[in-house]
Parts: sequence; structure tokens; C-alpha cells
Amino acid sequence: MTERSEELRDRLAQVTDRIERACAAADRATSEVSLVVVTKFFPASDVRILADLGVTDVGENRHQEAEAKAQECADLDLRWHYIGGLQSNKAAAVAAYADVVQSVDRRKLLSGLVSGAQRAGRESLDVLIQVSLDGPDATSRSGVAPDALLSLARDVVDHDTLHLRGLMAVAPLGEDPDEAFSRLAPIRTEWLETHPGADWLSAGMSGDLEAAIKIGATHVRVGSAVLGSRPSVQ
Ligand SMILES: *Cc1c(COP(=O)(O)O)cnc(C)c1O
Repeated sequence: MTERSEELRDRLAQVTDRIERACAAADRATSEVSLVVVTKFFPASDVRILADLGVTDVGENRHQEAEAKAQECADLDLRWHYIGGLQSNKAAAVAAYADVVQSVDRRKLLSGLVSGAQRAGRESLDVLIQVSLDGPDATSRSGVAPDALLSLARDVVDHDTLHLRGLMAVAPLGEDPDEAFSRLAPIRTEWLETHPGADWLSAGMSGDLEAAIKIGATHVRVGSAVLGSRPSVQ
């Protein structure tokens, strides 16, 4: 085993341990929570090591980097999650390699996702709607405002190729994650009343996965706790 493999193996074990403890504390089964390892900024060689270590799901947030890495790793049996901001003119290209697009936040993306998925020969594409937890005064918002969520969901459901799986959210930078996720919990509860089958909840990252698991996350997106710190130019 190389030094890097050992490092990733050890960090992965620590993260798995945190997930198990958080599930136990929340009285949930560990099998309810999937780990998506966020490999942005790290090379395809790391993705290969992770696959060897049993990782099945990886996440990327920048289209060009993701596309290249997915190509380099096409021989691996991995599920690729696109978790980043999406430009509508890139949506079709993302749908060609992403198995799950977690960051759907506006109607304008949908036709591109559909045509990209169809061109790639996919019968359907899993999507999550990203719901914003930013306050009303936020200068920039990623995700759809909670009051526009159900209307966007109707648009998604109108597209047969898109399989609406659930919701994704990011706790605003600098805010106490417990506070941010306490706003997410009732949004999710109401969501499940209208979309009981779309029960994925992607929330929680390296710093706040425990808080997310506590309020019902089914997918955590963990980067630095597994791969180490990213270069600061982001
Ligand atoms: C980078 C990123 C993550 C992972 O963040 P870490 O703090 O490194 O775990 C999770 N979700 C999104 C949307 C990201 O862009």
C-alpha cells in the first residue's frame, strides 16, 4: 500500500466512524446514510484509491474537472454526483457523466439535463433539488428559496427523464450548522408530505455531518475530512 492509500484509508475509517456514531446518537441505522466522497481538486489517482477502498459514490463541483476525471475513471464502477453550481449551457454536458445531479435550483436547467441524459443513452437521471438555507438578506443564494421549492418540483416531475430523488442543502458558511439545519428539518417534513418517494436528503459535510444526520440526512458529502485540505485558491 502506498503512503497516500494508507492516509486515505485511515481518514476514511475516521469518517465512517463519525457517521456510525452520529447514526447511533440519532437512533438511526448506519445503512440509512450514504457517504459521497467529494474529490474536487484531487486527482483521478485518488479516486482510484478510494474505489479500491470501497467508496462507491464520489462528488464533484466543477464541470471541466469533473468531466475529465469521470473520463479517466470510466473503468471504475462509481456513481458520480454533481454538487456544484450549474450553468444552463453546461447542464447537458454534466448529465452525460453525472449519475446524480444534486444542485438543481432552477427551471432553466431542466431541458439541458434531459437532452444530455438522453444523448448519453440514460433512461433516467437522478436529480435532487438544492434548497437554499440562506437568509432573506443573503447577497448570493445557492439553491431555490424554500417558498419556490414545490413549484420547481412540479417542473422537474413534468420531465419523464428526470427522476426526482429528494433535496440537497448546504449550511451557510459561518453559521452554526445546528441552527441552519433546524430550518431544513421542517422544510423536509413538509416536502415528504407532497413527495414521499423523493426521500433523499443530501446534507452535511466534513464540519457538520453530525448535525445533518441528526435531522435526517441520507447522504453526506465529505471532502477534506477524507482527502485532506484543498488548495486555498477556490
Ligand atoms: C466542497 C463541497 C463539499 C465538501 O466539503 P468539505 O468541507 O471538504 O467536506 C460538500 N458539498 C458541497 C456542495 C461542496 O461544494
